[in-house]
Amino acid sequence: MSILVYIEQAEGKVKKTSLEAVSFANALAGQTGEGDVVAVALGTIGNDELAAIGKAGAAKVLHGADSKLDAGLIQAHASAVAQAYKQIGAKTLVLAKSSLGDAVAARLAIKLNAGLVSNVVELPKTDAGYIVKRSIYTGKAFAETTVTTDDKILAIKKNAIDLKLDGADAQVESFDVTIKDADFASKITSTERATGDVLLPEADIVVSGGRGLKGPENWGMLEEMAKILGAATACSKPVSDLGWRPHHEHVGQTGVKVAPTLYIAIGISGAIQHLAGVNSSKCIVVINKDPDAPFFKAADYGIVGDAFEVVPKLNEAFKAE
Ligand code: FAD
Repeated sequence: MSILVYIEQAEGKVKKTSLEAVSFANALAGQTGEGDVVAVALGTIGNDELAAIGKAGAAKVLHGADSKLDAGLIQAHASAVAQAYKQIGAKTLVLAKSSLGDAVAARLAIKLNAGLVSNVVELPKTDAGYIVKRSIYTGKAFAETTVTTDDKILAIKKNAIDLKLDGADAQVESFDVTIKDADFASKITSTERATGDVLLPEADIVVSGGRGLKGPENWGMLEEMAKILGAATACSKPVSDLGWRPHHEHVGQTGVKVAPTLYIAIGISGAIQHLAGVNSSKCIVVINKDPDAPFFKAADYGIVGDAFEVVPKLNEAFKAE
């Protein structure tokens, strides 16, 4: 018996959140004695990229290489993952919590008659029953859920566990997926990247601006910082409501929820509705000229100062690094 992990990819690169899911599955297998971790990856991905999944703890990678699977089509991926699950006789499926992960997991819960827990933050307690801790209310609280089915699906919250990449390369095996036309009932015919090089929901670093930046003409220094750091840009709701930045950059309760390693908030007050979208970040840096701005209470590091002085100085320092 093995634990199966569903791997998400973007443009042939395995997502870090999927490697976290592999690490989690590896630790879980050690705890429950469920044997090896097998990963299933779909679409066009290079062999080296696939083998490197082993570094996070997978012994084997099943590769369904059909390029029709590149687009992350939910039904087709759910069908392919179900086939892999049955092929290896797994009882547990682990995957990253994401919009694709949640959509695939929901379909698989029905197909496999499995109990599903999403937003999992730590290894289940398995001494008496199977109790899974998950994050709720946008990271403000935790809930424990008991899974009673034999088959289990766990969707792991981003950044919830420390990613270890000290394993050996995995054995990569080709995996014949049977895909029906019905699995492609809807298909993505083209995609277009709206702004920036780094996608906000996936970003490891986010540079975010608020109304304190006074107007759209002042975003150049944030874009420069994002470029230097390889970060995505984001903003508060009023900024997108005012049309200074596109709506898909708005972070918070009513916008995108992010969980980067580093969130840099510039000229944002830190209203509760904004924090709801960023409080899963590992490290928050706040730059605000008001020392009483509420965001400082949620910050790991704070700079009290005028953004128009602080940001250019930081950019110069980052460039010099
Ligand atoms: P402000 O509150 O105007 O804060 C600007 C900050 O910039 C201040 O702290 C000020 O000290 C600082 N500043 C000014 N000048 C400078 C300078 N030169 N240098 C440095 N700092 C400076 N908001 C969201 O962001 N996301 C949401 O999803 C969201 N959802 C909402 C849902 C509901 C139902 C409601 C009622 C509100 C929601 N809001 C949301 C709005 C939220 O309540 C706040 O109004 C909003 O987050 C404030 O945006 P801000 O911090 O950019 O602006």
